[in-house]
Formats: sequence, C-alpha cells, structure tokens
Amino acid sequence: MAKKRLVLNFPPQLIDQPVTYRLITQYQLEVNILRASITPREWGRLVVEVTGSKENLDSGLKFASNLGVEIKPLAQDVQWYQERCIECTACTAICPTGALQLSREEMRVSFDHDKCIVCGLCLPICPYGAVEIMF
Ligand code: SF4
Ligand code: SF4
Repeated sequence: MAKKRLVLNFPPQLIDQPVTYRLITQYQLEVNILRASITPREWGRLVVEVTGSKENLDSGLKFASNLGVEIKPLAQDVQWYQERCIECTACTAICPTGALQLSREEMRVSFDHDKCIVCGLCLPICPYGAVEIMF
C-alpha cells in the first residue's frame, strides 16, 4: 500500500464535480480529508491523505491532474516567527483561510496554526522570512 499527503487545488469549474468520489469509487483509494477551504475567487483546496495500491494511487492522481486539479505534496508544517514580522500585511491578503490575519482593532498580524492548510502562498510574499515551511 502507498500513502501520500497532498494539497489538491480545484479550479472553479471543478468545485462541484465529484472528483474525490471518483478517486474513492473508481480507483479504490482511501481519501482522508485533513483540511478544506474555498478561496474568495472560488478555488477549492483540500489537504488530504490518500491511501491505496501504488498503481491505483498513480492512476487516480493522473486522472485528477488531467481534469485540471493541481496536486502538490503536503509540506509538514508552517512556522510563523512573530519576531521577524514587521506587520506589513502582505500575507494577510493572500492567505486563503485567514490563518494569517490582521486584527484591525489592534493593527496586529497573527497566525492561527489550526486554520493553515500549508498551501505555501504566503512564503514568497513575505519579504522578511517570517513564514517558513518545515519538512
Ligand atoms: S501556508 Fe500561509 S497562505 Fe497558506 S494557509 Fe498557511 S498561513 Fe495561509
Ligand atoms: S508578509 Fe511577513 S512581515 Fe508581512 S505581515 Fe506577513 S508575516 Fe509579517
């Protein structure tokens, strides 16, 4: 059996398609959804752990990729270093889940680890290296 932890990015036209269902039924994959979100532009993101035979896993992911699903390996974790953050707020506009957020009352940026889907979008945005992915 093979197991992969992945981030699946669904473009708007695939949001209501039964892609995950077909991975389960057609490719006999076990799909454990760890986190899910939909961005304001209606992209859907699933963080999943997918288990199955190597052949089914490869075929199922190829099927999803051919449909237009972006598939990335899941990095283990995101670390935010408050002491490096100058609260420029560049990351808060791009974070799809609100894990990096600006409190308007206090004008402070904060990081909510539980909301982070490890999509990595904030990393290249931050000019001070305040966000790192831990492998
Ligand atoms: S990796 Fe960054 S942009 Fe993505 S959800 Fe986590 S904090 Fe937000
Ligand atoms: S982009 Fe970096 S420095 Fe700017 S608010 Fe986000 S974490 Fe802080």
